[in-house]
Amino acid sequence: MAAELKKFSESRDLTRIERIGAHSHIRGLGIDNALEARNISEGMVGQHSARKAAGVILQMIKEGRIAGRAVLLAGQPGTGKTAIAMGLAKSLGEETPFATLAGSELFSLEMSKTEALTQAFRKAIGVRIKEESEIIEGEVVEISVDRPVFSGTAGPSSGSSSTSVIAKTGKLTLKTTDMETVYELGGKLIEALSKEKVQSGDVITMDKTSGKVTKLGRSIGRSRDYDAVGSHTKFVRCPDGELQKRREVVHCVTLHEIDVINSRTQGFLALFTGDTGEIRVEVREQIDSKVAEWREEGKAEIIPGVLFIDEVHMLDIECFSYLNRALENEMAPILVIATNRGITTIRGTNYKSPHGIPVDFLDRLLIISTQPYTEEDISKILDIRCTEEEVDMSPDAKHLLTKIGIETSLRYAINLINAAALACLRRKGSVVEMEDISRVYQLFLDVKRSTQYLMDYQSQYMF
Ligand code: ATP
Repeated sequence: MAAELKKFSESRDLTRIERIGAHSHIRGLGIDNALEARNISEGMVGQHSARKAAGVILQMIKEGRIAGRAVLLAGQPGTGKTAIAMGLAKSLGEETPFATLAGSELFSLEMSKTEALTQAFRKAIGVRIKEESEIIEGEVVEISVDRPVFSGTAGPSSGSSSTSVIAKTGKLTLKTTDMETVYELGGKLIEALSKEKVQSGDVITMDKTSGKVTKLGRSIGRSRDYDAVGSHTKFVRCPDGELQKRREVVHCVTLHEIDVINSRTQGFLALFTGDTGEIRVEVREQIDSKVAEWREEGKAEIIPGVLFIDEVHMLDIECFSYLNRALENEMAPILVIATNRGITTIRGTNYKSPHGIPVDFLDRLLIISTQPYTEEDISKILDIRCTEEEVDMSPDAKHLLTKIGIETSLRYAINLINAAALACLRRKGSVVEMEDISRVYQLFLDVKRSTQYLMDYQSQYMF
């Protein structure tokens, strides 16, 4: 299984593509160390209290204090609920899995609702698998020394929370994994490095008996750059006293990926096509017990991620009871759900409730509400989107677009940016002017005008 996981995680790295989508300008939550939202930061504008609340959640996730909890983002359409969820995902970093699902997808997939939800949950549970790789005699060794292991030393600093020292040694083999020896040898190495004034990124050799360090040149990159999934090499000494090296390769995959890789009917290529179909219960049971075994042996760690379900009012009562149960699992991710509905019917029942969510489920949620935007906020968001879409727009045109955004919706105004840029291109202009904005405003209707049109010409439509 390990070989297939490696193959998969390497190819996944290659296929990670950044899309220019509606939220591509969002790079984080834009909050400071005190969790206060900065006015404009990381692509985020306004919505201060919601961003601050999301920041508290982020902090709790990072401290591992919120697994199995659920958060509801509630607010009117276009008030940035998805943007905040994206900001949260970006701030969590690449290692924390973030899975998204739109409520309506549950009813269109070729699988049962609960299977789709199970897959979404397992996509949001990460497994960090440590594997010791083979040791090759005489190979160039790259080591990364973390500050917690060699605390209080005068080693070279990269200015971040961990110090990276790249070293080159030869003729090393592995026989032990004794941490005491790692401390001892690491201390010796750091001591030698501080005397030689070696900087992070320098390639050096260390004589294992005298501890003397010689500089060979500069490394072309940090040790992480050598392995698609990251690796650390530690120094250890075997019982016979010989200095040895051991490399620890770390794979980060999700439970869903392990499920698919081990599902005989699909195989790992299905992960790229998305055509994974239903996965048998026995496969999942086997995976869970294997992962539990790895955890006990210290070979694997669980990283609870985040599952974001948009349009949660589309879920029916069966789905909500599934969510209630799934959150009780000890490996459960953090569930973030969003809706723009007020009091509405819970699907699959005749009852109405706030947001169409059953009251017992609502009770376990931390609720964050988003507020309508001010004119200034809309103008800033449109500004950011123009930069993101590389569209030059005159101040007058921006002003007009902001007014349209207030009258119609933020999303409609954002959609007009690209259309206006095309109109500008057609008249061979280079800067979008008011005329381009009014042109596309007349061409494409917003919801209000479209509804008015329907009401005016109702009789001509089919019933
Ligand atoms: P809906 O209820 O219709 O799903 P939503 O509340 O999820 O709406 P978004 O899709 O997040 O709204 O917002 C609409 C657009 O405005 C997106 O392109 C989003 O990235 C952008 N946006 C919303 N809020 C902000 C913000 N505070 N800062 C920057 N961009 C924002």
